[in-house]
Amino acid sequence: MGTDLSYIDENLRRITYNVGEAKAKYRRESDEIRIMAVTKTVAPEAVNHAVDLGVTLLGENRVQEYMSKKDMYSQKAEVQFIGALQTNKVKYIIDSVTLIHSVNSIKLAREIDKRAEGISVKRDVLIEVNVGDEMSKTGADAAMLNELIYEAAELPNIRIKGLMTIPPIENAEKHLCRMQEIFEEYKSKSIDGVQMDILSMGMSGDYVTAIKYGSNLIRIGRGLFGPREYK
Ligand SMILES: *Cc1c(COP(=O)(O)O)cnc(C)c1O
Repeated sequence: MGTDLSYIDENLRRITYNVGEAKAKYRRESDEIRIMAVTKTVAPEAVNHAVDLGVTLLGENRVQEYMSKKDMYSQKAEVQFIGALQTNKVKYIIDSVTLIHSVNSIKLAREIDKRAEGISVKRDVLIEVNVGDEMSKTGADAAMLNELIYEAAELPNIRIKGLMTIPPIENAEKHLCRMQEIFEEYKSKSIDGVQMDILSMGMSGDYVTAIKYGSNLIRIGRGLFGPREYK
């Protein structure tokens, strides 16, 4: 027999319940909130177990780790890229991920556009926002966000589908609330080449609060798979 993976069943049941409760409290019945399973350091066997339980979306952080695991993944789930992405690695993932959450510079947007053209697809992306304007974070800060969105919107082989953020741990609620304002602001602008549909925010520690502020894609790692073991 393989490893006992029943803790994943329990975790998923709890998360699904909490999402339902948060939705009932804060959102409309018709709102759809997707739960992404974040797979960094998690064995493919455990990832596939989550897919068997009904998880339809996987989130990858590291290109190299993803390359080493992707052939072992169940084909039933959609894979999106959520990690910091170096331009020289876009070529490895462009054909196998449906959405790249972490576009934080025009240089990266241009590279995705070029590689998407090379395989004749239009690739969906999110713009990553450094909502706390933290020095240590990689998203676009308030000062450059507007320019990045308008410039990236011009690129013919990418489609901006929304925004993503990892808020600062301090005062997370304030920042999640601010993100909702930014998201609504750009949605109301109706920019050509931009469809503000996806607000990707909320992780194991703050997904209920993120749902309160309009998130429709929560990214859960430890809450589903347990503590990460770095090798
Ligand atoms: C690791 C990671 C997550 C999941 O974080 P947990 O706290 O384990 O739920 C979500 N988003 C990104 C971008 C991550 O790197």
